[in-house]
Amino acid sequence: MTQPALDPEELSLWQAKIRIANQHNIFCHCQQCQREWVASAAEPCSCGSQLVETIACWQFPDD
Ligand SMILES: [Zn+2]
Repeated sequence: MTQPALDPEELSLWQAKIRIANQHNIFCHCQQCQREWVASAAEPCSCGSQLVETIACWQFPDD
């Protein structure tokens, strides 16, 4: 008995989606001024702080 495998095409599509989401939806949180924003890449805060926590948005639940 074989498990239904994920279609390789679906799998690569899913991986591409994750990659795109990861590139364009980086959730940034400044640990200095507590500012929160979304950027396409990790970037320093407008307050000049480099203490920015970055979280890829795809890690959040989708609802
Ligand atoms: Zn800041």
